[in-house]
Amino acid sequence: MQKPTRVSSYIHRLEPEGPMRVPGFIFADDELLADMEGDVFRQLANVATLPGIVHGALAMPDAHLGYGFPIGGVGAFDPHQGGIVSAGGVGFDIACGVRTLVTGIHKDRVLAERKTLADLLYQNVPAGLGTKKGLKISGRDMDRMLAQGGKWAVGRGYGTSSDLKKTEEGGTASGADPLAVSDKARKRLDRELGTLGSGNHYLEVQAIQEIFDDNAAQAFGLRKDDVVISIHCGSRGLGHQVATEYIRLMVQESARQKIRLPDRDLACAPIFSDTGQQYLGAMRAAINCALANRQILSHLARESFETVFPDARISMLYDVCHNTCREEDHEFQGRSIRLFVHRKGATRAFGPGHPDLPAEYVQVGQPVLIGGSMGTSSYIMAGTLEGMGISFGSACHGAGRVMSRKQAVKKYPGRQVIDHLQKMNIEVRSHSFKGLSEEAPEAYKDVSRVVEVSHNSSLARKVAKLKPMICIKG
Ligand code: 5GP
Ligand code: MN
Ligand code: MN
Repeated sequence: MQKPTRVSSYIHRLEPEGPMRVPGFIFADDELLADMEGDVFRQLANVATLPGIVHGALAMPDAHLGYGFPIGGVGAFDPHQGGIVSAGGVGFDIACGVRTLVTGIHKDRVLAERKTLADLLYQNVPAGLGTKKGLKISGRDMDRMLAQGGKWAVGRGYGTSSDLKKTEEGGTASGADPLAVSDKARKRLDRELGTLGSGNHYLEVQAIQEIFDDNAAQAFGLRKDDVVISIHCGSRGLGHQVATEYIRLMVQESARQKIRLPDRDLACAPIFSDTGQQYLGAMRAAINCALANRQILSHLARESFETVFPDARISMLYDVCHNTCREEDHEFQGRSIRLFVHRKGATRAFGPGHPDLPAEYVQVGQPVLIGGSMGTSSYIMAGTLEGMGISFGSACHGAGRVMSRKQAVKKYPGRQVIDHLQKMNIEVRSHSFKGLSEEAPEAYKDVSRVVEVSHNSSLARKVAKLKPMICIKG
């Protein structure tokens, strides 16, 4: 396997070789690059062979091994050059993402009430593998939810329409095709809508520890020492089933279209094919499912928080997905073209002036919400103009794993993780010891390093650092 060459301090290039149509670009410092050697290099080179790929296959600083595409991978495809869409390039948890809410409450008040608040959140926010404590939804109502997403949830009394203005695409992915979502996928959502899920998903109460950019922090409504709530989850069993079924169809479609796949997990379909269009319709319906899910969860979190702090004024900072394929206009080689941008474990990060941003954020760029781990920091960044040019307006989505779940379970017993967090004044509630082990902070890369590289390479710029106070884990 070839080694990348250095383009600048934080950008490395894999030259197109053999069937690669474009180069690979890796955003990393030397240490992060060393973590990616092997798996990520190989997967990036594979992605670069896919038809219609534009500019390059990209790895964000948190990239690690994924299914076909690396997690932390970005690939943009031109539909008029035979461009494809790949279900594996979106990921299994379609539209997994992060939503952050601003509370206006000082951290000292939360510290004093943290056990009460943690218990209440744990009680009111259904979580854990196979929880069936969510909403019962079926038939026409399910169709409406899949077509309207967050808007459907607000219509049902979960949150307000001002929440939707601070959600990607106003809370509704357009072009969703509920009919392309199978009965089996729908059944898998039975009593799962409005639940957090397991393992890596969380609801966290975080203190704003440091502000790096006063101007952006002000636009985002962030004040040092105030508390925010972040929710990380996705489209639950429904999205997973959509991904599973369409990967199977795409394996057949790739063969039919004679697309040479260096790895079967890259199965894909031309954007203009029936399979491609059906997947896009189903994927957008799954995006709506995730948006409805996070909207319901934020309502539950709000209610719990306001029970303890009746004077809290909880408003949305933003909701952004990190497992999607979006149809977007980008400037490329001096002209504007419509591309299908896959971001798998990568956050959209539109720069200042982008027409899709809420008015409050147009001057400073899109909020980019980045998880760290339950024992370290998380970050809020902002999209940049430079990022629009180098990464199709994309940035990292988290710290990224350094250790497989299996390894972490062996190394960090759940009890030990809880004790360790308690010593740091972090209140954790979880439905599973195994889940806690899998998500031990040590299983992740150093999020500050990942964020520093994202900042220094201009993928996004730092706005605020968050410290965990309460973590509700699936
Ligand atoms: P993923 O969507 O790839 O499963 O996870 C996104 C990111 O969330 C991970 O890369 C990791 O850095 C972060 N993360 C995982 N668990 C937690 C947690 O409990 N709290 C916070 N703040 N971040 C987490
Ligand atoms: Mn996620
Ligand atoms: Mn997820």
